[in-house]
Amino acid sequence: MNQAVLILIKPDGLKKSLTGNILTRLSETKLEIIAAKMVRVSQELACEHYKHLKGKPFFNDLIKYLQGELHDRKKVMALVYWGPEAIKKCRELAGATNPEEAESTSIRGSYGRITTSGVYENVIHVSSDVTEAEREIKLWFNPEEIIVDLYSIKSVEEKKKLAVWA
Ligand code: UDP
Ligand code: MG
Repeated sequence: MNQAVLILIKPDGLKKSLTGNILTRLSETKLEIIAAKMVRVSQELACEHYKHLKGKPFFNDLIKYLQGELHDRKKVMALVYWGPEAIKKCRELAGATNPEEAESTSIRGSYGRITTSGVYENVIHVSSDVTEAEREIKLWFNPEEIIVDLYSIKSVEEKKKLAVWA
């Protein structure tokens, strides 16, 4: 059965010019990209994304890391990949959370590092299960930004000013 998975190319991946490399590695999976964008990560978004790690000693540094404050790159690339066993395939390619433990040929094993303050700079985020993927995809993307109807939607009336090309 097809699954969706959220991938983030984290600020260290962008700074190290690994975007093309990571996308090439992910293309080995033969999965489909169904959404992609660059995102400036607010503190609120970073904290919500990593809320399962609140209270960990590295939490504050992790939030700064995702916001790009450690790499002078205040953005991440967010993508949704879709297809059979998408989560398992992408997690396998990414490798273990700790880049020192990740298989050396995996993305994290090839390009990740542990900082002196103990944060795992592991260049890529991959959702770890179907429930987490749904929560994360809904956090990072609006329904109209995804070209496959993944989850049920509803219509709401919203009056707000939009920026359009002048
Ligand atoms: N992390 C860290 N130290 C740890 C555990 C996690 O710096 O001991 C960071 C690392 O960047 C990781 C992120 O927190 O990718 C989220 O952790 P999680 O346990 O969800 O691992 P993942 O799903 O990213 O493999
Ligand atoms: Mg995780």
